[in-house]
Amino acid sequence: MEMESDLGTEAGRRAWRAIVEDPAGTLLCSDFDGVLSPIVRDPDAAWASEETVGALARLGQRVGKVAVVTGRMARKAVQLGRLDERQGLETMSVLGLYGFERWDAATGEFDEPRAPDGVAAAAAEIPRLLAGLGLGSARVEDKRLSIGVHTRELDDPQAAYAALEAPLIELAARHDLRLEPGKFVFELRAPGINKGDAVRRLVAEVRPRTIVFAGDDLGDVPAFEAVRELREAGTLEGLLICSGSDEQDALQPLADIVVPGPPGVAELLDRLATELER
Ligand SMILES: [Mg+2]
Repeated sequence: MEMESDLGTEAGRRAWRAIVEDPAGTLLCSDFDGVLSPIVRDPDAAWASEETVGALARLGQRVGKVAVVTGRMARKAVQLGRLDERQGLETMSVLGLYGFERWDAATGEFDEPRAPDGVAAAAAEIPRLLAGLGLGSARVEDKRLSIGVHTRELDDPQAAYAALEAPLIELAARHDLRLEPGKFVFELRAPGINKGDAVRRLVAEVRPRTIVFAGDDLGDVPAFEAVRELREAGTLEGLLICSGSDEQDALQPLADIVVPGPPGVAELLDRLATELER
């Protein structure tokens, strides 16, 4: 009960009690980067925190279902988190590319539909656009359904980020893509795919009594909003965990609890696991 009192909102406390009462009725969802995994300069060098995934695996043996909902390709998240090798994650699904792709631990199979043509067309134009701005060394990440343009590794990430915004808005509009700002990254993304819809599909499939969602960035806002809507409609209880950082605070006002980054998420999940194991 000590932990419950740390939760900032009445809705959060209600959700915590519901999880403890009925773990099997719980759907536990988490973003990958910045939540399970520390943010690193090179996304391909990301790794899942042993503490966080360990706590998730302990919870996986108690709750109804565990899911990772990420902007990454499902295959990449599974590989970086070694999510296919862990005991306790047998119920896990990974919803990749904001729910466009899926991997299920139960079958080991990936569902990876073909991406819209506009993404490849925009990707082909980006090197020239970057060169024209003197930002030729910005890293471009092809994520199939989206293209990430990263400024984190550049000498002046903030100035580069500001210089890129207008030209990328124009490029995105021309190819029917949406421009999504993130932490020193712009994503040009095929529209109509977001974590909110991914959460709604999971809820329709699992019909949980309680959903937990842990996120850290702008891409998680639709998921948080979906949980809040479902909660306000009385469909379920919901616990929203923000993995706090200095770089992004859009999620904090939507969250029931803000914890200090991936180590804080690990600690919170660990305490929940301990409570469920008692
Ligand atoms: Mg993230």
